[in-house]
Amino acid sequence: MLNLNSDIPIQKIQAPEIDLKGIELYLRREDLNHPLVSGNKLRKLKYNLEEAKNQNKDTLLTFGGAFSNHILATAAAGKELGMKTIGVIRGEEMLPLNPTLTDSHSYGMHLAYLDRSSYRNKNEDSLIQSLRDKFGDFYLIPEGGTNALALPGVREIMDWEAGTYTHICCPVGTGGTLAGLISGAREGEQFLGFSALKNALSLEEDVRLLSAKEKGCWNINHEFHFGGYAKAPKTLLDFILDFEGKFSIPLEPIYTGKMMWGILDLISKDYFKVGSKILAIHTGGLQGRRGFDYLAKQVSK
Ligand SMILES: *Cc1c(COP(=O)(O)O)cnc(C)c1O
Repeated sequence: MLNLNSDIPIQKIQAPEIDLKGIELYLRREDLNHPLVSGNKLRKLKYNLEEAKNQNKDTLLTFGGAFSNHILATAAAGKELGMKTIGVIRGEEMLPLNPTLTDSHSYGMHLAYLDRSSYRNKNEDSLIQSLRDKFGDFYLIPEGGTNALALPGVREIMDWEAGTYTHICCPVGTGGTLAGLISGAREGEQFLGFSALKNALSLEEDVRLLSAKEKGCWNINHEFHFGGYAKAPKTLLDFILDFEGKFSIPLEPIYTGKMMWGILDLISKDYFKVGSKILAIHTGGLQGRRGFDYLAKQVSK
């Protein structure tokens, strides 16, 4: 069983521009849920790992980009549980390995590479079969870790008392995390996801199918993608450094920085009613900051 920290801090984000609107904003530090890897990816893995054990599989195989939080989380989970892991990485091998892949490898993950056009077939039986021919039997986890078994692990994030918050916010990539949260929705809770992708038009449908919940208690905002997945203009990077300076909480540009910018922007535009109590989920991913020189340089100054 994965060992997740059961005592996750929830910090109040206190600033005059929030107080002035009669709103309270809190941040749940899921980035602190595990000593090796942080964030939602371990939550999504938890019950997949149980299922792999039940099926007597001793090897996990999954897919991701070279800076993937999910690849690193899978490697760390495999190390913790004594399971073999294979990471199939999009694109050619680049040496020296970047920090994400260096860590994944040091946790015992075998790294394999697929050129970009083959990688597109990652959900097709013929490609999976060729991987089985090569590596033997494995438990397959999809890219990003989103499947039906990801939801109950994410739902465990919701250990606050019912009635505590009016709004719960999270960043959205595949929608697995949002789907997991809303699958545990309680009376009076409104969920708002912030898409990190541009033109992610099928997200609503994906979340609806995964969670089996019609809209009503949830919504996805598409205004704060900053140009698309992994696009990080300087204004966003500066915002992250400013946020860190003010609140001593690190963010990263791919997901959590965009969400926090979005929440503060919506607060300034009176999107939330007076008296709203907002909980944002810090979904982690801080290891990915290492891919952004600008952040590293500013921090080391
Ligand atoms: C993967 C990831 C997300 C997106 O989660 P989905 O379940 O794919 O929507 C959000 N934040 C961080 C830090 C992530 O690594």
